[in-house]
Amino acid sequence: MFIPNLLASECNFMLQKSILYEGKTKIAYLTDDPEKILLEFKDDITAFDGKKHEIIPGKGRTNALISAKLFELLEKSNLNTHYLNFVEPNAMLVRKLDMIRLEVTCRNIATGSLVKRLPFKEKQVLNNPIIECYYKSDEYHDPLINDDHIKALKIANEFETEQMRETILKANSILQKFLLERKIILADFKLEFGRDSKGQIFIGDEISPDSCRLWDKTTLKSLDKDVFRRGELNVKEIYQEIFRRIVGA
Ligand code: UDP
Repeated sequence: MFIPNLLASECNFMLQKSILYEGKTKIAYLTDDPEKILLEFKDDITAFDGKKHEIIPGKGRTNALISAKLFELLEKSNLNTHYLNFVEPNAMLVRKLDMIRLEVTCRNIATGSLVKRLPFKEKQVLNNPIIECYYKSDEYHDPLINDDHIKALKIANEFETEQMRETILKANSILQKFLLERKIILADFKLEFGRDSKGQIFIGDEISPDSCRLWDKTTLKSLDKDVFRRGELNVKEIYQEIFRRIVGA
């Protein structure tokens, strides 16, 4: 088990060194504060339900820094996120949440699964953002799910569903503006939400090129995980390029 090395010196908590959860691209560690966990970003990149998998050295740090930057931006705009602080070299200290099993997506431009399912044209600009929720389940392959399903399955109540919708719309406006100033179009993105111990809803997980479609404003070229999905060879360079634009040199 790898524990981020500068942790003990940089943080005023003792790591219990136990893994709460390990996913395809992140590991969550317990800390001695039951309300906080450490989220370490791995160098792994996966697509197609994990069937395609590679290691991109440095990607974990890049994604952790991009995610931290974008969470800080949302926090400054008074959105509730799980983010507390960045931890060298590749982790974030975050609020421990009970995650809601939904992937909430917001689309500004039609692409990806949307154009496969419905008669939108590839790269068609949507006049209003389209919000879609997917049920996070490997068994059911993350199906599209509507508000009635969410309520009937008790995944979230009506108030929480509306709160997630309002939050992703606000996050969309903030992220779009910030990214456009860096010559990046936010075609679409995904957020995950969770509840803290008091039941309050926060944005969780990550906001990175793994979870957003980020296109160069001039060329419309992908600066995100689609490069990997398509089997292009320059994945590392693309992640470095998006890192430079969002975080800086
Ligand atoms: N997305 C994600 N995780 C997933 C599925 C989608 O982060 O498991 C993101 C994806 O990167 C894109 C948005 O959600 O920014 C919409 O994805 P879409 O439904 O088009 O699915 P995809 O084409 O990525 O399978």
